[in-house]
Amino acid sequence: MSDPEVPDTEVLALDAADPLASFRDAFEAPQGVIYLDGNSLGQLPKAAVGRLDTVVREEWGRGLIRSWNDAGWIGAQARLGGKIAGLIGAEPDEVIVSDSTSANLYKLVVAAMQARPGRAVVLSEPGDFPTDLYMIEGALRTMGGGRRLELRANADIEAALNAEVGLLVLCHSHYKTAAVRQMRELTRAGQAAGALVLWDLSHSGGVLEVDLNGCNADLAVGCTYKYLNGGPGSPAYLFVARRHQQTLVSPLSGWMGHARPFDFVDHYEAGGGIQRFACGTPPMLSLAGLEPGVDLALEAGTPRMAAKARALGDLFIRRTDGLEGVRLASPRDPSLRGGHVSLSHPDGYAIMQALIARGVIGDFREPDIMRFGFSPLPLSFAEVARAAEILADVLATRAYDDPIYRQRSAVT
Ligand SMILES: *Cc1c(COP(=O)(O)O)cnc(C)c1O
Repeated sequence: MSDPEVPDTEVLALDAADPLASFRDAFEAPQGVIYLDGNSLGQLPKAAVGRLDTVVREEWGRGLIRSWNDAGWIGAQARLGGKIAGLIGAEPDEVIVSDSTSANLYKLVVAAMQARPGRAVVLSEPGDFPTDLYMIEGALRTMGGGRRLELRANADIEAALNAEVGLLVLCHSHYKTAAVRQMRELTRAGQAAGALVLWDLSHSGGVLEVDLNGCNADLAVGCTYKYLNGGPGSPAYLFVARRHQQTLVSPLSGWMGHARPFDFVDHYEAGGGIQRFACGTPPMLSLAGLEPGVDLALEAGTPRMAAKARALGDLFIRRTDGLEGVRLASPRDPSLRGGHVSLSHPDGYAIMQALIARGVIGDFREPDIMRFGFSPLPLSFAEVARAAEILADVLATRAYDDPIYRQRSAVT
């Protein structure tokens, strides 16, 4: 196979018609890499480099403590939350950036179960992202009182909703298969049973159209280092619908959620609005690194991002259909699929390592899933078509049989 390949006319036409093509230039793109892992760690927006430099040298270096006021640090969590609200169908005062997705799950699970006394069950799905289930377990262990987590396959969720369920926790787009859950219907069903409903948007925010208020959602969390390109470990966001903001109380009652943090009084009094779900001093460097990615997503707009991610996924599916030993593990219907496409193969781990050695970076999830993420802003159709060709070549030549591709690293 010659290298590099010239894109065919279909691919050239897709790139020529791409309204988001100019966003590619806004990202750092390492030479020789086709990056299909923006669903795990998004690429670096070039603007983040300058922004971080300013925050470090000017605001921290010279401004020092004054920058909490003068550089707007103290309002950054709410300001960024307000921006992210525009990507997930929320109002600006319903979202705050704070802590990790894991910590936000804890806060909202405890707050929700305290608001549903007499109901002992948190209902969720098996097999989705583990930290969600771990945090529910930890929250319920702390709360005690016989509270427990029950898991039901997605198809059986509605039937399992009863008067014991205080909270339903679901991931909008599944981290392994990218299958999208029906937010409107499941929210309505949970609420009809008297439960609150919490959506994890980690694989949706910045890539799919999400309409939290249009679906009458109660609560949501999501992470920012995937499709929002916020940087490794950038802080997460949480959403609490306005109607719940005065009744739900965070169990992590840190001073940044206090009504008057700088009164330094001895007793906690939850602040008004979404600010009560903040906890400790915000991580300013990480918040600064996040903002450029969010701004790019707002400029592009979710309808265009979602349409392109689906089109990239469709192209990849068409070009990998029928490869020997490979099975599509994501919905073929793009309206039921999130931003990535998963292919399963018994040698998936070794194949992914061989792909990475050829510059095609995706990731692997147990037991046999190769994930290919289609971040709509930095990727071109030509890159996606080329990645499919390289996958076909790795399979045809059995390049993955080399034992070096079977060694496991800590992070897969
Ligand atoms: C990525 C992801 C998380 C990450 O949680 P952290 O606290 O940032 O490690 C949580 N839930 C889901 C569904 C995810 O996809």
